[in-house]
Formats: sequence, C-alpha cells, structure tokens
Amino acid sequence: MCSRSAKNGVTMQEIWEAKSRIKPIVKETPLIQSSILKEKMDASVYLKLENLHEIGAFKVRGAANKMSSLTDEEKAHGVTTFSTGNHGLAVAYVAKQLGIRAVICISNRVPDAKVHAIEQLEAEVVKVGESQDEAEKYCQKLEKTEKLTIIKPFDDPFVIAGQGTIGIELIEKVPAIDAAIIPLSGGGLFAGIGLALKAYNPDVKLIGVSMEKSAVMAESLKAGKPVILPESDTLADSLLGGIGLNNEYTFSLVRDLIDEMIHVSEAEIAAGMAFILDQHRMVVEGAAAAGVAAMLSNKCNINAQHIATIVTGNNVNTSVVSDVLYNQLNNPVIRW
Ligand SMILES: *Cc1c(COP(=O)(O)O)cnc(C)c1O
Repeated sequence: MCSRSAKNGVTMQEIWEAKSRIKPIVKETPLIQSSILKEKMDASVYLKLENLHEIGAFKVRGAANKMSSLTDEEKAHGVTTFSTGNHGLAVAYVAKQLGIRAVICISNRVPDAKVHAIEQLEAEVVKVGESQDEAEKYCQKLEKTEKLTIIKPFDDPFVIAGQGTIGIELIEKVPAIDAAIIPLSGGGLFAGIGLALKAYNPDVKLIGVSMEKSAVMAESLKAGKPVILPESDTLADSLLGGIGLNNEYTFSLVRDLIDEMIHVSEAEIAAGMAFILDQHRMVVEGAAAAGVAAMLSNKCNINAQHIATIVTGNNVNTSVVSDVLYNQLNNPVIRW
C-alpha cells in the first residue's frame, strides 16, 4: 500500500489516501477571496480558512490521518504527545473521536488555560519538569512503559500527508492556482501542501513565510542542515519550536520544494491579524495571518495569477487581539 517514491518522501497516493481516511473526522474548509489583496497583488487572492476547524487549526488533519492509521493494538494502548499548542489539542480531539486514550505531557510552565482546553477534550494531562525537553523525555518513557504511540507534530509521513489534503482541496476549487504562501515552522504543512500542488502543476511557486526571529526552518535551510535557535517572543507563537536535529522528512522536503522564503515583522503580523478581522470578520492567531502580512507589506513580489494563502488557526488570547486592534486603530503601520 504505502509505497514511497523516494526515501524520506511522501507520495501523492498517500495524500489521496489521507483525504478519504480523515473524512469522518475532518470537515472541508471554505476558500474565500480578498478584493483588497486582489488589487494589491494584481492577482486573485484566496484565503483557505483552516481557522474554522472545530479545534481552530489545521493540525487536526495530520493527527487524524496518523491516528486513524494505527493498528488496533496500537489504538488499544493509546497515544501520547508533548506539544501544548494546536498539535496537542488536535491529538486530544482526534483521540476522543476515535475513542482512544491520549496522554499529553506538558511542563509546569504551560499556562492553565491551555491545560484546561486539553482536559476539556478528556485527554489526560501529565505535568513534568520545567521545559518542553523534559516533557518530551517523559513521552518517550511512556512509549516504553505503557506502549503508547508518540504522535509527532510534523516529522511523520502520515502527518505530512494529512496536512497535504489542504492542497487537494485547493486544486479542487481553483485548479489554476499558480502560487501559494504558506506559514512555515516544522514544515509539515508546507511539505504536504507543496507536494500536492507541485504534483498537479510543477510550475507552481511555493513561498514559505515565518516571523523574523527564531525562524528555525529558514536558518536550517541556509545552514544546509537542521540548527537550533533560542525562542523569542512573537505574535506567531505557533511558528516557534525546533525542527529536530534528527529531522527525517520535513527538512529535505521543504528544501526541495521551496521557491522563496519571506520573513514578516511583528508589526506586519499584527497588521495581517487586524486586516482579517476588519475585512473578513474573523479572529485569527499571528501565525495564521503571516501570509496576508507578507502581501500587505509588499514583501511578496511573485508573478502569479491565482495566489492562495493558508489562514492556519485561531488560537489566540482575547487580550492579544484587543492590543492588535487598538494599535491598528490608533497607530497603524500598514493601511488598506
Ligand atoms: C503548526 C502550525 C503552523 C506551522 O505548521 P508546521 O507544519 O509546523 O510548519 C502554522 N500555523 C499554525 C496555527 C499552527 O498551529
């Protein structure tokens, strides 16, 4: 079944299989157009609304594909992960849908609001140590002692194929898409969508977008190998985190697929969030506004007719949204 065209690759067939596998759990998301961005880019601009999933982020796709593919024995033992952000929520949500046990390992530094969101999905939360690293080690211990399967956030062919289903949905609605601007962190989203779009149109332009500081994938691509960077405060907190020094899949896939990398400033990310709120009446998180920010800031000069960007999620504190909106109304860096 799951034949791979190349070592460390993911095939189009696996993305098609993912599409039917996740269907019982994941709804298709809408695609809308922006008239202001159309004028600005001199091209049709489409926003793929991955913020509208029940858990508020696309990560449910990868988690659903991976967890639905487990053997009955693996499902009976359950799963574990150490991510606290959207991936942790996705694993907890899918586990509930499939009726399997999920243990989310977090450090004592994780805010209570996040812990409660995961507990509401009936997942078990284990608090260990003071850092992500300690939580990860505990996960590995659970893998051995309780036979739980670790669900990785991006560096897994099933997760990549799950995120790639966004690419199929894009092509089904707008076959003429010739450029995509994709928020980039660990690269599961970029690799999955990139594979699907390039398989359909080898000339499609694939643009990654990250914040300015702590853009680990971008720095790793420059260095030619995975690197480690300290984390910095950013509105795009979902784009933080390493890619793993032993990265097996996403580093080489992103390296081979990417045409251009764009970095957006905090002010530009804020403008992107305010734009989506003002123009499309939706609250989104910083990472989700990065593609719109790249276009609003004139940093994206591509020669394309049909540009898609992914609005990846909506998990942001109301106080952050309030600040962003206040600044846009009183002291705007970008106007539209
Ligand atoms: C995880 C995430 C991303 C980045 O996805 P990767 O596969 O890690 O590159 C972007 N936006 C949001 C909201 C996310 O949760």
